[in-house]
Amino acid sequence: MHILVTNDDGVQAPGLLALAQEMRKLGKVTVFAPDHNWSASGHVKTMERPLRVRETTLADGSSAFMSDGAPSDCVALPLLGLIEEEVDLVVSGINPNANIGHDVTYSGTVTAAMEAVIAGVRGIAVSLDSPEGHRGALDYSTAAIVGRRVAEKILADGLPEGVVLNVNVPYLEEKELRGYLVTRQGLRVYRDALDQRIDPRGKPYYWIGGESPTGVAEEGTDFGALAEGFVSITPLQLDLTNYKAMDVLKKWKFK
Ligand code: MN
Repeated sequence: MHILVTNDDGVQAPGLLALAQEMRKLGKVTVFAPDHNWSASGHVKTMERPLRVRETTLADGSSAFMSDGAPSDCVALPLLGLIEEEVDLVVSGINPNANIGHDVTYSGTVTAAMEAVIAGVRGIAVSLDSPEGHRGALDYSTAAIVGRRVAEKILADGLPEGVVLNVNVPYLEEKELRGYLVTRQGLRVYRDALDQRIDPRGKPYYWIGGESPTGVAEEGTDFGALAEGFVSITPLQLDLTNYKAMDVLKKWKFK
């Protein structure tokens, strides 16, 4: 069993180490991750510049590959043959914040797992719903165990074709988890605000700031599951077609 572990927070992120260590219990692990933080970079394919790959060492002394490409590049490179050994599963994370609702289109963690599916390999994204304003080191142990359990299940039972599993884990002790729920994407409520400032040369610059997003804790959704202390498992697909809208649009007459 050969598992590729990646993330969008950078190869030295503690969430990646926790995940890689747990995945080693299932088989051989190759870590291939970006050399810096790409959070909220979405699905990227680097085409206008060369990609560099270097070997590095993680905090536990194990070796890893890092690239100056995006998370999805870090999945594409090894799956396209940079690493000869066939990969059975790609696991991305552990992201320090939940990736739910509309987040999945922004998320480098989730889109790295999507890149696996494009290459015909199974992919999982694992994110931790850490408390807002948390200071100090996060405890990734529960999310890492959950990631391993989900991976174990996929390696044993398979996964429908073209499906990416988006796993979000509450910030709880493992024994406090209420269980695992299969969910759909919920509704995120973004509270972005435009912050315009003036640089030392008198020119304006902008930050997209504002408060952290909230969400609608509806039953059956990813956000709803986390709010109740359940692990949320959402099967995603890359087909973003709105089939209902197709019927409406087909009635359009163009002149
Ligand atoms: Mn991230």
